[in-house]
Amino acid sequence: MSDPEGDTDLPQPKPIVRGVASALSPLVRRIVANNPGVMTGPGTNTYLVGIDEIVVIDPGPDDPAHLDAIAGCGGDRIRWIVCTHTHIDHFPGVAGLKERTGAEVLAFDARDGLEIDRALGDGDIIEATEFVLRAVHTPGHASNHLCFLLEQERMLFSGDHIMEGSTVVIAPPDGDMSAYLRSLERLKAHRPRLRSIAPGHGHLIEDPLAKIDEYITHRLAREAQVVDALQAAGTTRIEAIVKDLYADVPEELHVMAGLSVWAHLLKLVEDGKAVGQDLDGDWSAA
Ligand SMILES: [Zn+2]
Repeated sequence: MSDPEGDTDLPQPKPIVRGVASALSPLVRRIVANNPGVMTGPGTNTYLVGIDEIVVIDPGPDDPAHLDAIAGCGGDRIRWIVCTHTHIDHFPGVAGLKERTGAEVLAFDARDGLEIDRALGDGDIIEATEFVLRAVHTPGHASNHLCFLLEQERMLFSGDHIMEGSTVVIAPPDGDMSAYLRSLERLKAHRPRLRSIAPGHGHLIEDPLAKIDEYITHRLAREAQVVDALQAAGTTRIEAIVKDLYADVPEELHVMAGLSVWAHLLKLVEDGKAVGQDLDGDWSAA
């Protein structure tokens, strides 16, 4: 049982209701796609930024009902469609939304079937009448991952770089743990310009720096465990490390855990602390 009096002191996050636009701030609305799952939490968050001129961030899957909801909310004021990265829970709705709105499509690059009108690099901005949205290149989860900073409201749209409710999968070769940690550190440099984080999955994060620090601490703790496992075993394999470190995680998630351990090991190779290469090969401490 929770303490009802204590509960009233906590800021309650806006409930996640699919298919309905929920206002998160004067400039930002969120529509959650109907694709809940192990990897997507309650579903992909699509954000609409702006009133007179609107940027849509991550249209999500190619789901006509979801795209109709976005277009119904923004109509012909949707001027731009941007993608944080080209994973299938974020971009396949782009073509259908462009068809409905005629908006310009922007992302880091055209990849995995995404077609774009213009590439966005680190520091590039989208300038609307009411706001500026700045792209921050944050490779790690995907090499082409961008976060977007809404300077007027100090809100960071973090895609899958930072999620609410779970950690992020780093799956080599496109996923890169060294790059991921560097990208987290880079976001900390934006500290004065951060008040909240609007993630690709889950609720708005109201304490961005604590969340970023929690993410970094979690990864470094896992890395230390991987180093210990290597040193204890002499020569070992990823499967054995997973069995050891993820004993409390359901077996169906062990494939994902294996990719994550692989990502840690590749970083340790870069750091000169491990020797090895392949997902199914031998690994040892350096
Ligand atoms: Zn995602």
